Amino acid sequence: MERDGQGIAGRDLAGQVAVVTGAASGIGLAVAREFAAAGAKVAIADIDAGRAEDAAQRLAATGAEAVGLRVDVSSREAVAALFSGVEERLGPVDVLVNNAGISIDHGIRRITDEEWRRTHAVNQTGVFLCSQAAAASMIPRRKGRIVNVASRAWLGWYGQLTYASSKGGVVSATRSLAIELAKHGITVNCLAPGLIDTPLLRREPHEVMDRLMLAQPMGTLGDPADVAWAARWFASPASRSVTGQVLYVCGGKSLYAQPA
Ligand code: NAD
Repeated sequence: MERDGQGIAGRDLAGQVAVVTGAASGIGLAVAREFAAAGAKVAIADIDAGRAEDAAQRLAATGAEAVGLRVDVSSREAVAALFSGVEERLGPVDVLVNNAGISIDHGIRRITDEEWRRTHAVNQTGVFLCSQAAAASMIPRRKGRIVNVASRAWLGWYGQLTYASSKGGVVSATRSLAIELAKHGITVNCLAPGLIDTPLLRREPHEVMDRLMLAQPMGTLGDPADVAWAARWFASPASRSVTGQVLYVCGGKSLYAQPA
C-alpha cells in the first residue's frame, strides 16, 4: 500500500463523489488531492471561488474529475446551492468532509461578540448545515461517509476559548450524528489535527508558535497530507465498522494534559 515510501496507493475511492469544504487551501486542499488520487470525483468547495476553481483545474489537469464551487458553509442557502450544484455536475454525494474552519481568537478578555458569532457560525453551524444536506441525500441510498475536521484544541488551548469551544461542538456533533445515522449505513467520524503547517497556523504570532512547539512531543509540525491520509481512511471501505470516533493527528500533543 506504499506510494513513494509514503501514504496510500490504490483507488479505494473509485467513483465516489466527495465534497470537501474549505478545500482551496491547507488541509482541505490536501484532502481533495488525496481523494482524487484515490479515484474520487471531488468538489472543491470554498468561500474563495477563484482559488477553488484554480485548485479544481489543477486537479483536472492530472486526469481527475474535479469541480470548484463557492460556498459559505454558514449560510443555509449557499449550502443548498452547493449540494444541488454537486449533484448536477458529479452525482449524489457519497463522502462529505467538513473541513472549512476559521480561527480568530483573542482570549476571554478581548474576544468580541462578532468574533464569537462568526467562529461558531463557520466551525459549528457549517458542520450542521453541510451534514444535514449530505444526510438528506445519503439516507435514501443507505450509504455515506461524513468526516469532520475538529482540532486537538478542543481539549483546551490557552487563549483560544472561542476556537476550542467551536471545535468541542464538532466533536460532540460527530458522536450524536454517528449514533443517529448508523442505522442508515452512514458513518460519521472526526479528525483532531494538532499543529499542521498551513496558512491558518502561519497566521499565529512567533511567540505563540514557540510556546506551542515546546509542548509538541514529536517536535515537528504536521503536514496537511498527514491529515489527508487519515481522512481517506475514514472515507474508505477499510473503516466501514468505525463510527463516532475522534482520531488525533497531532504528533502526540493530545497526550499532554496541560494547556498549550
Ligand atoms: P486554511 O486557512 O489554510 O484553510 C481553510 C479554508 O477554509 C480556506 O480556503 C478558506 O477560504 C476556507 N473557508 C473559510 N471560511 C469558510 C466558509 N465560511 N465557507 C467555506 N470555506 C471557508 O486552514 P487549515 O489549517 O487548512 O484548516 C482546515 C481545518 O483544519 C479547519 O477546520 C481548522 O480549524 C482545522 N485545523 C487546522 C489546524 C492547523 O494547525 N492548521 C489544526 C487543527 C485543526
